[in-house]
Amino acid sequence: MTLTEKDSQYLWHPYTQHKTAQTPIAISRGEGALLWDENGKEYIDAIASWWVNPFGHSNRFIADAIYEQLTTLEHVLFGGFTHEPAIKVAEKLIEILPKNQQKIFFSDNGSTAVEVAIKVALQFFFNKNEKRTTIIAFENAFHGDTFAAMAASGISFYTQAFQGMFIDVVRIPVPVKGQEQESYDALKDVIQKDNCAGFIFEPLVQGAAGMVMYEPEALAKLMQICKEHNVLTIADEVMTGFGKTGKTFAMDYVTEVPDMICLSKALTGGTIPMAITTFTQEVFDAFYDDDINKALFHGHTFTANPTGCAAALASIDLLHTEEMQANIERIHKSHLDFQKKIEKHSKVITARTLGVIFAVEIKSVSEESYYGSMRTKLYNFFIDKGVVLRPVGNIVYILPPYIMSDEQLQKVYKTIEDAIEMV
Ligand SMILES: *Cc1c(COP(=O)(O)O)cnc(C)c1O
Repeated sequence: MTLTEKDSQYLWHPYTQHKTAQTPIAISRGEGALLWDENGKEYIDAIASWWVNPFGHSNRFIADAIYEQLTTLEHVLFGGFTHEPAIKVAEKLIEILPKNQQKIFFSDNGSTAVEVAIKVALQFFFNKNEKRTTIIAFENAFHGDTFAAMAASGISFYTQAFQGMFIDVVRIPVPVKGQEQESYDALKDVIQKDNCAGFIFEPLVQGAAGMVMYEPEALAKLMQICKEHNVLTIADEVMTGFGKTGKTFAMDYVTEVPDMICLSKALTGGTIPMAITTFTQEVFDAFYDDDINKALFHGHTFTANPTGCAAALASIDLLHTEEMQANIERIHKSHLDFQKKIEKHSKVITARTLGVIFAVEIKSVSEESYYGSMRTKLYNFFIDKGVVLRPVGNIVYILPPYIMSDEQLQKVYKTIEDAIEMV
C-alpha cells in the first residue's frame, strides 16, 4: 500500500469531508521553501505550511537548538517547576513585544492561546466582582477551533453545529476602508448595551477570512473606545506575529497597546507546537491575591515545554538577523510590483499587500463560497503546477517563508497569473 492508501484507511484530516475530498499528498521531505512528495514531485510551499514556517523546512539552526535541548532537558512539568529556556523566552518576548506586556503564559496552539486570553478577560471582571460576560469580535474573524475561540470566530460554517452553546459574543464590522465609522459606531453600541469584558481582534489582517486588511489608525480608534469603557483588548497575533506584516508584530504599527497578545504559528519557526498569551501587569494583578479562587486555573500538560522554548529562542534569533529582515523587505517589494501588475487584469477585483502577505481577489461568475468550485479548480491547478496555495473562495493569497528565493517567488506569481487566465 502507498502512504496515501494507508492514510485513507486510518486517518481523519482537519477541515476535510472525507467522502468528497481528494486524497492527500504524502510529503516525505522538506528543505527551505520546497517540499517533495513520495513520488519525488517538488512543490513550492507558498503559504509556509499554514503560516508557521518563516525560515524554511528542516532548518538546521533551529534543529540544532532542539537537539541540544532534547539531550539536556527535554521536558519537565511547569507546575511548581521552572527552567531557563522558559525564562529566556519570556525575557526575549518582553524585550520585543509592545512595552506594556509584562507576563507570559504558555500553552500549545493558537486556539489555546486565545482560549486563555478569553478566560482571563472573563475572570478578570469576575475577580473584581463586576458582571461583564460579553466578548466583542469582528465579523468573519478566525480565532481557532476550541470552544471559546470558536465562539469568537465568525466564519459560520465552521461553527454551525454548535450555535446556542457558546459564550456571549457580539460581532462588529471590520473597519475596512470606507466602513470605519460603521465599525466605531457598532462598537460603541455594543459596549452601551452589553456588559463587555473584552474585544478580540486579528490586528490589521484577518488571515482565514482571506487576508482582509484594515488600517492601524482604525484599530487604534477601536482600542481607544474600549479603553474609555474599561473593555480589555486582546490582539490575536497568532498569524500576524514574527515579521509577517513587515514589523515584528502587527501591533507595532498601532499607536495603542493591547491588554493581551496571543502568539503561536511562527513562534517556533514551524517546528514544535507552542503558544503564548501575554498580559499587562494590571491583568496579572487582578489574579494576584491571598484567595486561591482568584488564581487562573488553566494549564496544559506540555506547558512551556523546554524543547519548544529552545526552538522559539532560535527562531526569534533568526528573525532578527539582518539577512532575514532583508528577506522580508525583498519579498514585500516584490509583492508590491506583482500587485501593481496584477490589479489591472480584467479578471481581478482587487489585490493587497502587507509585509510578506499578498492577496488577490479573482472575479467569479457565481457567488463563491469558502470551499466552492472555483476554489477547487484553482487549488488543483496550483498543486498540478507544484505550488502549494490554498485559496479562500475566490481569494488567492501568498504567505511565503522569508527565505523563498526570487526565482521561486516569480514562479508562484506566474502560476497565479496562469490560474487567473484559466478560470
Ligand atoms: C491559526 C489561527 C488560530 C488558531 O491556531 P491553531 O494553532 O490552529 O489552534 C487562532 N488565531 C489566528 C489569528 C489564527 O490564524
